[in-house]
Amino acid sequence: MAGRLSDAHCHVGDNPDLFEREVDRMQVQWFATMATGMHDMAAVERLMRAYPDRVIGFFGLHPWFSHLVSTTTPTSKHDHYKRVLQPEPDDDVIAQLPEPVPLVKLVAAVEQHVKANELAQIGEVGLDKNFRVRVGSRLSPHRVKVSHQVEVLTRLLDVAARHDRAVSLHGVGAHQALLQAVTAVHARHKLRAVCLHSYSGSADQARLWTRALGSPDLVFFSFSKFVNLERTTPARMTAVVTCADVAATQILVESDLPTAGPGLDAAVDAAAAHLVAATPSLSRVTLADNFARFVFGRI
Ligand SMILES: [Zn+2]
Repeated sequence: MAGRLSDAHCHVGDNPDLFEREVDRMQVQWFATMATGMHDMAAVERLMRAYPDRVIGFFGLHPWFSHLVSTTTPTSKHDHYKRVLQPEPDDDVIAQLPEPVPLVKLVAAVEQHVKANELAQIGEVGLDKNFRVRVGSRLSPHRVKVSHQVEVLTRLLDVAARHDRAVSLHGVGAHQALLQAVTAVHARHKLRAVCLHSYSGSADQARLWTRALGSPDLVFFSFSKFVNLERTTPARMTAVVTCADVAATQILVESDLPTAGPGLDAAVDAAAAHLVAATPSLSRVTLADNFARFVFGRI
């Protein structure tokens, strides 16, 4: 249906049974459903195959799980975690972490999903300077070095460029490093489109992104109720969407939710209502068209 909103970033693959129960009565047209690592790619693939007119699967490694892959082979589990975590973890912490998966294996798995589905895209990938690694049931003081995250991200962006797929990006506390990593890949081989999900940067940074990738057609900014309306200030989001250098065609809406149902519909709707009210040039039809251009490369 023309003008029906789509969710540019969600995690409904976390609760596939709930999705299957709810999807028929939901308003959202398309669900851009993120995998976050080896553990949930199969669930996203299954939903994508079962609902080819509702689910677009994104395959990648979320930065929160980036320590679980090793970029150097051969390496011992002990050396790997000492190398990628800061502060350096002690033996007790390392003992509670799983054996790392070689990055080549992760990249091969992502590439396999992409080759098997022409609508499969790349995500959730990105950089996060602030998060701390979960060890067992508690949050540890350890963070993943940004240099390691960049290495992982770059390999997955290469897959997106090679197969001409869109990318959903997570960026927290590392806007500059993220821009640099994406620009470096784009300079080598062109990326088709990137979306900065739950975009919390400034209008100036939004302008830098568009300039760095060379065209507003390649960069999308997506906004959610939970991050942009509730956790950060709506004024910051309004500054981005009303800034003269950001086009209405670059704006997307998302839920970022793992749970399908009326709450997800309402979250996407609330983000859209706020944006449309803030920006005279933006309508729900524009938002729907933008999603089609981001994912399918055309309206
Ligand atoms: Zn996400």
